[in-house]
Amino acid sequence: MTSSFRAILLEKNGDAFSASIKDLSDQDLVTHAGDGDVVVQIAHSTINYKDGLAIANRSPVVRKWPMVPGIDGAGTVESSSFAGISAGDRVVLNGWGVGESHWGCLGGKARLKGQWLVPLPKALSTRQAMAIGTAGYTAMLCVMALESQGVKPGDGEVLVTGAAGGVGSVAIALLSGLGYKVVASTGRASEADYLKGLGASDIIDRATLSAPGKPLQKERWAGVVDAVGSHTLANACAQSRYRGVVAACGLAQGMDFPSSVAPFILRGVRLIGIDSVMCPQAERRIAWERLAKDLDLSKLDAMTTEIGLADAIAQAPKILAGEVRGRLVVDVAR
Ligand code: NDP
Repeated sequence: MTSSFRAILLEKNGDAFSASIKDLSDQDLVTHAGDGDVVVQIAHSTINYKDGLAIANRSPVVRKWPMVPGIDGAGTVESSSFAGISAGDRVVLNGWGVGESHWGCLGGKARLKGQWLVPLPKALSTRQAMAIGTAGYTAMLCVMALESQGVKPGDGEVLVTGAAGGVGSVAIALLSGLGYKVVASTGRASEADYLKGLGASDIIDRATLSAPGKPLQKERWAGVVDAVGSHTLANACAQSRYRGVVAACGLAQGMDFPSSVAPFILRGVRLIGIDSVMCPQAERRIAWERLAKDLDLSKLDAMTTEIGLADAIAQAPKILAGEVRGRLVVDVAR
């Protein structure tokens, strides 16, 4: 067992911000990581949109300095004093404020709370778990929300916005695998073949959804997975069919929601909010078991790019600019 490990460290001194690779020790984890009863040797992490914000210092994601970023990690337990988790167990971590107020997983080790950890399903490697990451687990929560409200594959088209991003890519693969007819909304026409390869049956230009629209529009969607917010979410609601279901999880276009009550009170449209960060443990476990069963791993592979720890710093502004396709996995050992 190594007592020193490499990690990305975010530091702030007055207005001066830096993100760099540092050698850290087990003692650093005890001193700075925050309360934790399980030490995990992280094999893989990932860059989500929120990690991009933290590493590029673009919004107040980080609440404590210095900070190791990384809201997601997968690896093997090195030591544990938490009942039910033992050395050698394979685990996955998503959210809970890790990488924001508690040292995160973009490094060789993390000191975490046992109550946050989910057993890694046998069918998934640590690399595949991080190819899924919070983006993919959130996509699964969205699919589960549509199902829980009774949306079935035969009911009609399901719209996925932010389609070429992480949440969108996994949502398309999941929904098409379950038999839904998926329409992908993207600003990247050049990714049409990629999106069709994941299972989209039709592609629409995101510009058709991103401008202000009428409160009620022609009914089209039986379900929606929205990673974009703002006018896109408002138009998706306005275009939903009678009793259609919209799962809202993201804000890539904006945090505003310039809508009216018309879709909800005249068409019975249901808008479901999705939060992955504090999602209860029981639902997380179901989501991860469903991902292991329902996600086509060859499609997951097609949407994954692997990078090393140092590359992760350079990729942060790119995910914020919407330039990353699919999912970025970080091999923390390189
Ligand atoms: P990505 O950056 O991978 O994907 C976002 C996609 O949104 C882009 O690829 C792009 O898709 C589209 N997009 C970007 N900018 C705009 C814009 N100005 N207008 C319209 N579309 C745009 O991020 P993720 O998939 O990881 O996350 C998506 C969103 O979901 C983020 O806002 C993130 O914060 C949120 N999120 C929320 C979670 C929760 O718990 N609720 C958990 C995980 C993520 P394209 O190029 O195809 O148009």
